[in-house]
Amino acid sequence: MEISCPIDEQYASEISALLKPPPPPHLVQEYYDQLLESRQCHSIRVKQEGEFGKGVYANADFKEGELLLRDEMLFGCQHSSNKIDCLVCSFCFCFIGSIELQIGRRLYFQDVGVHPHHGCGAETFSGISNNHQGSDSSNGEDIPYGESYDNMETCGPSSKAEIIPLPKEIVQSLMNGELKLPCSEKFYLPSVVPCSGGCKEAYYCSKQCAEADWSSFHSLLCTGERSEASSREVLVQFIKHANETNDIFLLAAKAISFTILRYRKLKAARLSQRASLNISNSCDLSLLMEAWRPISVGHKKRWWECVALPEDVASSDEAAFRMQIKDLAFTSLQLLRAAIFDRECALLFSLEIYGHIIGMFELNNLDLVVASPVEDYFLYIDDRPSSEKEEAEKVTRPILDALRDEYAVICEGSAFFPLQSCMNHSCRPNAKAFKRDEDRDGRATIIAQIPIRCGDEVTISYIDEDLTFEERQAALADYGFICRCSKCQEEET
Ligand SMILES: [Zn+2]
Ligand SMILES: [Zn+2]
Ligand SMILES: [Zn+2]
Repeated sequence: MEISCPIDEQYASEISALLKPPPPPHLVQEYYDQLLESRQCHSIRVKQEGEFGKGVYANADFKEGELLLRDEMLFGCQHSSNKIDCLVCSFCFCFIGSIELQIGRRLYFQDVGVHPHHGCGAETFSGISNNHQGSDSSNGEDIPYGESYDNMETCGPSSKAEIIPLPKEIVQSLMNGELKLPCSEKFYLPSVVPCSGGCKEAYYCSKQCAEADWSSFHSLLCTGERSEASSREVLVQFIKHANETNDIFLLAAKAISFTILRYRKLKAARLSQRASLNISNSCDLSLLMEAWRPISVGHKKRWWECVALPEDVASSDEAAFRMQIKDLAFTSLQLLRAAIFDRECALLFSLEIYGHIIGMFELNNLDLVVASPVEDYFLYIDDRPSSEKEEAEKVTRPILDALRDEYAVICEGSAFFPLQSCMNHSCRPNAKAFKRDEDRDGRATIIAQIPIRCGDEVTISYIDEDLTFEERQAALADYGFICRCSKCQEEET
């Protein structure tokens, strides 16, 4: 049965204006020039030309290992299962709180039986979380920067019998700051700023990050009492659905929220300019097009058309599979629409638009990775001269035993990086994504892998370039192209 979205029918011509492929080249060029200018980045440029459309080119010579670009994400989110391992700023994704809080929080969740890793076959935490939090507050304990646990699984303590747990009081005193670990002051983390909307789900490294997130995305997606969502209850359902199915929907919600909030800002600016008396409540399509620009330069295909066919789906079942994916997107969209609908931006809630936004993430989705300061901390202790180390380990050894190999879990998520996503693939790339020691937030870092000359195209590999020719071509088919790089041309015959 064909899915029919009423908004698609009602706004057919406006939607096709928004999705017109491709946007005029001068607007695409203007967008990237402004983006590079706003970041004071003059050593690369984006050119809209050549066989593959957009590409990134060096504007200077680069030595091997030299930094090419630190790209700020347009949209990003931490995987929900990663949230119990790492407490990070919801805007810039740097670790926050303190080493003690990071460790205490991790041990607390371990203790109450929440594990981020799947496979223990237990129920979701949603039913248990309320009970537990209830008993917690009656005990007068702090609830540690909690999250929605819907995507996390619980295991009985028996399955983790090999872990030597720490006494509850120690875990509590790590979380509330009473217990200071030796040398932890060398690993200073910014203190936690909670979301001013009251959701107890978003935390920040600073007021600036909190305000930037609120005005760019979160005011519409916050589940707290100051949220501007039209239904917080449905918003919670939307988030739960995304956590249970595909967290790419959370990125899509951010993109829609971002566009609505940008549209409102553009409209307010225009109204104040003109001091107009006849304020219109209808959609201004030209403003919406402008608000939509960051996505208009990136989208290509609908999600259900570009998502790679999983290996366990026979090609004869492809049509049914794609219909199922479309159906899933529609379910998600209906929840999002009921949660944050905006009449003037109604067309953003059409299945066509939603499909294109998710498709853009599917084809360009990049990993968000931030190294853990907790790992650095334990390595530092391990590196101390023997007498100092012995003294420190009296405190840290039992903690390490309780954490086991989970002491080094990094922050993980997905993000869309507007400049990195313009870089074309090569199986013999001249650049790579590589986080250096100083790169401790959600930004993407691209460095030169070999010397790059001014004017050269900058390429990265989307896949493991050490695979065989056939394996590479198969992997790249998921990105929708056949690679004709120099390595592939050599190996083809
Ligand atoms: Zn931050
Ligand atoms: Zn919030
Ligand atoms: Zn190739």
